[in-house]
Amino acid sequence: MPNFTRRACLAIGAAAALMPRAGFTAERLSLGDAELVTLSDGNLVLPSDFIFGPAPQEDLARLVPEFGIDLSQPLTPPCNVTLLRTGDRTILFDCGAGPAFQDSAGRLLDALGSEGLGPEDITDIVFTHAHPDHLWGVLDDFDEPLFLNAAHRIGRIERDYWMAPETVNTIGEARASFAAGAIRRLAVIEDILETFEDGDEVLPGVAAVLTPGHTPGHMAFEIASGGTSAMVIGDAVGNDHVAMARPAWPTGADQDTETGVATRVRLLERLAAEGIAAVGFHMSGGGIGRVEAASEGYRFVTDI
Ligand SMILES: [Zn+2]
Repeated sequence: MPNFTRRACLAIGAAAALMPRAGFTAERLSLGDAELVTLSDGNLVLPSDFIFGPAPQEDLARLVPEFGIDLSQPLTPPCNVTLLRTGDRTILFDCGAGPAFQDSAGRLLDALGSEGLGPEDITDIVFTHAHPDHLWGVLDDFDEPLFLNAAHRIGRIERDYWMAPETVNTIGEARASFAAGAIRRLAVIEDILETFEDGDEVLPGVAAVLTPGHTPGHMAFEIASGGTSAMVIGDAVGNDHVAMARPAWPTGADQDTETGVATRVRLLERLAAEGIAAVGFHMSGGGIGRVEAASEGYRFVTDI
């Protein structure tokens, strides 16, 4: 077992004192001298069919009750933005949905505040991919870059796909607004946006792992620090229920379902074999856990 320790806490910041109902959960993982924290950006509200549409429906109906899922109801996946403090760097992996996507998301600034941080404290932003819940928080209410002191980095394949003018016409109706929103935001940060490739050391101790399918250039990130490691998996595994239990089932969450399956199966196999911490953007319980092989498929264990 890797030598990591974890503590969970409920951080109530100064802002919460003014808004008694607001509490911002943060989950923590120590990695050598570095600290990884997941900050809640809120949650999404999605028709269950958007995710489960391509799955084998009879098997799905048999599987989901054990996860408390009612297929007639919308799904409300949590959104966990990963913050990594290492040396003099304060790094965000993705930056949440911002104010313009869904009312239930876009809470990152409040969560950052509860950690005593403002957007000006972020030194680096690294994107897993350019979907709204991961990218749109990069701009403020006036459509200006929000993280003024941060270097912004994204995989080259991902940048090229969303910056291509034809993407909005080829992506399909269900995601056309994703494409319009992405190109608009990426255009604003184009001059400060650096790109990287599969396998690159994006930041000291942070290596990019191409994990395509959810989007064409989706990247996971392997963080190595003090002899321990963790993997920020973004949406390569999109939830801790069906995607873990039946990784070979196609999911509507993936733009390319076949590639998404291949990526998910390979990634889960590796995470289970290595036993390293996995940090999932839409996993429950704060998103920090470990992947364990089950009798069929895998399970996400948050008590690590
Ligand atoms: Zn997502």
